[in-house]
Amino acid sequence: MERPTPFDDLDWTPERAHAFGARVLDLWTRYLEALPDLPVGRQQTGAQVRSHVLRPVPDEPLDDDEILANLEAIALERSTQTGHGRFMAYITGAGTVPGAPASLLAAGLNQNLGGGLLSPAATEIETHVLAWFAERFGLPAGSSGAFVPGGATANFMALTAARDALAGWDVRRQGVAAGPPLTVYASEDVHDTIDRAADLLGLGSDAVRRVPVDARLRMRPDALVEAIAADRAAGLRPICVVGTAGTTEFGAIDPLADLAEVAAAHGCWFHVDAAYGGPAAMVADLAPRFAGIERADSITCDPHKWMNQPISSSLVLFRDPARQHAAFTLETDYTRFDDEASAEMLLRYQWTPQFSRPFDALPVWVSLLAHGWRAFARRIAHDVELAAWLHHLVVEHPELEPTVTPELAIVAFRYIPGDLADRPEAADYLDTLNDRLVFTLQKGGRVFPSNAAYEGRYVVRACVMSYRTEAGDVEALVDEVVRVGAELDGRVRPVELAGV
Ligand SMILES: *Cc1c(COP(=O)(O)O)cnc(C)c1O
Repeated sequence: MERPTPFDDLDWTPERAHAFGARVLDLWTRYLEALPDLPVGRQQTGAQVRSHVLRPVPDEPLDDDEILANLEAIALERSTQTGHGRFMAYITGAGTVPGAPASLLAAGLNQNLGGGLLSPAATEIETHVLAWFAERFGLPAGSSGAFVPGGATANFMALTAARDALAGWDVRRQGVAAGPPLTVYASEDVHDTIDRAADLLGLGSDAVRRVPVDARLRMRPDALVEAIAADRAAGLRPICVVGTAGTTEFGAIDPLADLAEVAAAHGCWFHVDAAYGGPAAMVADLAPRFAGIERADSITCDPHKWMNQPISSSLVLFRDPARQHAAFTLETDYTRFDDEASAEMLLRYQWTPQFSRPFDALPVWVSLLAHGWRAFARRIAHDVELAAWLHHLVVEHPELEPTVTPELAIVAFRYIPGDLADRPEAADYLDTLNDRLVFTLQKGGRVFPSNAAYEGRYVVRACVMSYRTEAGDVEALVDEVVRVGAELDGRVRPVELAGV
């Protein structure tokens, strides 16, 4: 047979790699320059986006100019500008500046964090960064964890470990049907990924008992005790209490110390979903609001939220490493090492539901090296101040109605045209108006809030967490809500509510 000749089409010389990379880097720099003046969102249909950025997958290479033109259309013309200071929606961060080149390097090195053999430095960095977070939360030295694709996965892993540790039988082998139904307790305002985790784990989403909240939207410990007692009496097996440290809709912080107490008294796992609020719990001035987080068996924290890390940067921590390992370990023949080698090597594929894993810890590591933690801590405290300022503006404004006082940096309110303030029959119309107002603002391009429901009514919701947001931006939000709200009201108000 003939000896195969070289085929190097898929490799680029370092010079070629640099030429291409430099142009991408240049585009990113132009994006940073243009960002303040780019529309935050825009009026466009899926079809318009498709016709603008898609092209047939080619069989032959395009030249760099064409590729760059495509990347430019994606970056500058058809993306929602989540990095803009007036983007305030859905707890989505801006991405740190040093995190972006770090992501490039992480992809370039392509370390596989499934096992230390394939990623020695990366595995040590991941372990080091996890330990730093764990210490900040007050977990004991030696606790474990992993970077995961998001808070949804972190919550899923925490509930998996809780289930396996506390069901009382070998659930991993025998399944959930081998014992009594297992139940989980969380606030009415818990993130819905907890329900989905219960569903994926075979518990069923009904197993998540939604415990009533108080006037500040925090889970009521007395109601929690009652719910656990009722389920016990009915022959069910309570296994886990989920406290939320910063609810997604309004930023409420459950009374974590009380919940830890109840969980301990009833032999339950205590999970804290700090996907949103976690970084604030690490800031000295804000930490007292999170007292009790240090008693968690597991914690979810998303640095891609309030630390603005590039997506995804999310982690789950476990107080007891043995329980994390027990929930996810598996053995494959082709990854077996002798005892000496295994002792040296951390095999993280045995610690998560993933197998191959990316180097998500690098952007957060580089961001911390480049900025230092103190800049993040000060920025988070600044966001809390900006949110308080926005709430104050809302309270002062005659046509804006506040909801709860913000605990962290989420502010929610309604636009109510002056002449409809005292007309109960306008309630449904005000829902429609506020709902449409949010989407109109998003497409208008000047500000980008999102929505929420408060006491069954539509509200405008702003999450202050971009390091590019300042007082002028939250003031612009107020102005735009009132201006666009009045315009919209003039167009869509039904005749029976006509002004008097
Ligand atoms: C955002 C959020 C989640 C989901 O996290 P992802 O990173 O989006 O998967 C879970 N819980 C809370 C409290 C959140 O705010």
